[in-house]
Amino acid sequence: MKYGTMPPMTTLDEIYPGLIQKNIPLAPFTSFQIGGPADLYAEPRTPEQLEALVTEAVKKNIPYYILGGGSNTLFSDKGFRGIVIRPQFKAITVTATATANGNSITAEAGALLSQVIQAAAKHDLSGMEVWIGLPGTVGGAVRGNAGAGGKEIKDFLSAATIFDLKQQKIVEYSNADLELGYRHSTLKDKPHLIVLSATFHFEKKLPAEEQRILMQHTLSQRHATQPKGHSAGCAFKNEIDPITNTAYSAGKLIDECGLKGTRIGGIEVSNIHGNFLQNIGGATQQDVLDMIALIKKTIKEKKNIDLHEEVQVVSKDGTR
Ligand SMILES: Cc1cc2nc3c(=O)[nH]c(=O)nc-3n(C[C@H](O)[C@H](O)[C@H](O)COP(=O)(O)OP(=O)(O)OC[C@H]3O[C@@H](n4cnc5c(N)ncnc54)[C@H](O)[C@@H]3O)c2cc1C
Repeated sequence: MKYGTMPPMTTLDEIYPGLIQKNIPLAPFTSFQIGGPADLYAEPRTPEQLEALVTEAVKKNIPYYILGGGSNTLFSDKGFRGIVIRPQFKAITVTATATANGNSITAEAGALLSQVIQAAAKHDLSGMEVWIGLPGTVGGAVRGNAGAGGKEIKDFLSAATIFDLKQQKIVEYSNADLELGYRHSTLKDKPHLIVLSATFHFEKKLPAEEQRILMQHTLSQRHATQPKGHSAGCAFKNEIDPITNTAYSAGKLIDECGLKGTRIGGIEVSNIHGNFLQNIGGATQQDVLDMIALIKKTIKEKKNIDLHEEVQVVSKDGTR
């Protein structure tokens, strides 16, 4: 489809005036700070608005992309020939009682994970404090089974409310239904499933003050081991040899192969953490893809290990 010729979503413009914007640059919505303009862009305030937007987009054959915090997304410099939808429903409901059974938090997809962590700490609900500093939204975290400090979404999630675009209905997914694994969920293979909210269950309690001390410690560790600046966090997943069960840290492999500090265009392999590709100014999507290819080739040649990308690469027409 030619740039600027996107069929207007007239019906939605009429129902929700001002909801759909045109030609919105995507770079500012991503931690990489890379991405040209989206032909269409919307920030739904309610799940109903999101459902209407994606339904209308599919009807009109317009590619859509659900954007959370943009901390794991690499857009094209040519932007996106479709509609980028960034959920802005962010309510967080805490159900904390003296008994373990009542300790849960339900958070809408657009809520930041950091807000969920803070809400949990405020109610002495413990476990997520090790995630402090993990950016992004609840929607993105559930889809990628985000985690840190030995805990992942799978350890807390009791249910997710999902809009199934194909079936046109809201479905409750259990932890098992989501097939959560290392940086994986069934949602990765099924973009027609969109997270509207998630409920997390907490088994442990720890006073907020003690959690705050742990958080400070975790944050200072993150600051010491991860670079500041523009990246999408770890570019590659860690690997496990299925035969020997040996775990390989992608960052360590990159370091051992002497790739730290390597530059292609505006992208540099961080000198602090080999798995962080940093936009040091003016990087393009192609720079990142070239760097990814170089790293994969080098690790394969020198270590005979296949690395797999963690970052979500989005082409201008929505193919991934
Ligand atoms: C400095 C830094 C540190 C990081 N540290 C960690 C870490 O410790 N652990 C870790 O796991 N990750 C880490 N990350 C990566 C990133 O923060 C996580 O992957 C995060 O969960 C992505 O969430 P997001 O909302 O930003 O997702 P986005 O980048 O916005 O989206 C990621 C994917 O999720 C999809 N998506 C978003 N919302 C929804 C929804 N509502 N329904 C369905 N699909 C949706 C998008 O379409 C896309 O495919 C780090 C990133 C940075 C920049």
